[in-house]
Amino acid sequence: MRIFSGIQPTGRKHLGNYIGAIRQYVESQDRGDPAIYCIVDLHALTVPWDPATLRESVYDTTAILIAAGLDPGRCILFRQSDLREHTELTWYLSALTAHGDLNRMTQFKEKSAKQRELVSAGLFFYPVLMAADVLAYKAHEVPVGDDQRQHVEVMREIARRFNERFGEILVVPEHRIPEVGARIMDLQEPTNKMSTTGGIEAGTVLVLDDPKTVTKKVKSAVTDSGSEVKRGDGKEGISNLIQIMAVARGTSEDEIEREFEGSGYGDFKGAVADAVVDLLAPVRERYEGLRPDEAALEETLAGGAGKARAIASETLAEVRSAMGIGPA
Ligand code: ATP
Ligand code: MG
Repeated sequence: MRIFSGIQPTGRKHLGNYIGAIRQYVESQDRGDPAIYCIVDLHALTVPWDPATLRESVYDTTAILIAAGLDPGRCILFRQSDLREHTELTWYLSALTAHGDLNRMTQFKEKSAKQRELVSAGLFFYPVLMAADVLAYKAHEVPVGDDQRQHVEVMREIARRFNERFGEILVVPEHRIPEVGARIMDLQEPTNKMSTTGGIEAGTVLVLDDPKTVTKKVKSAVTDSGSEVKRGDGKEGISNLIQIMAVARGTSEDEIEREFEGSGYGDFKGAVADAVVDLLAPVRERYEGLRPDEAALEETLAGGAGKARAIASETLAEVRSAMGIGPA
């Protein structure tokens, strides 16, 4: 069972990333043979970026992942741009990608609507690069949050089309989306997903926020005019907090509703704030110890890139040969 997932580099990784993705990475690292996790700095070029910050952000995210429990000795952790294979395969796969499929992508529609200057072709091509990331490793499973469901569907379609035309070379991967916590909502706008690049500052709990900030953000979460700690229509804010609490406590949403039956929103939010602080504080503390040693982080990434290249370069050779690229 090969597992692959990518995460964009930023120091602003949030509770949604932690619950929907990072937590799954950590749980999957021993199940994967291997489990491969990639800091996707090339994906970060699809919206405006600052070059110096981007380079730093790769270290931030690497340190966050290790602090959360990824062990580079038990998984492959690397930086996307260290390999040329991902960009090269992107082009080959573009020849098998339906323009109409990319046109339907919700992420493109949402992110392009938010761009004030350039809506880049890179943003449109994001799912093809993502397909290359996964297909280069012939991964069987892709742990992601709910928002990436559509992109995994497109990469499956690309892999099927490739195999039909050129023979069974690629693996058609399956998504792995957690049952609870796959879509954590912005605390201030609970109808939108919590996001690294969109979203509202006060509604986005960062993995690296100090406990006081976490508490303030959770306690100021937008709720509704009712008073019942129960999921339901028009109760997106409370439903979101119930979801977060269930994950933080390692229990079910039903259980949380039972526990807080009769409690007011104020008490409930206070309890959620404490649970989120308990969830994130150890990660933040370990991060503080890891982040300063950039040489060590760089060494970890370089080691991961070597292992990743060994797998991806083999796939690329097969793909090129099957497609008629280069000498026989
Ligand atoms: P952006 O909003 O700019 O795309 P992001 O917050 O989605 O950034 P990514 O690095 O693109 O961050 O996503 C990393 C992983 O986190 C993906 O698997 C994605 O599905 C998951 N994820 C992102 N946001 C959420 C969320 N609100 N709830 C659960 N999982 C999420
Ligand atoms: Mg995203």
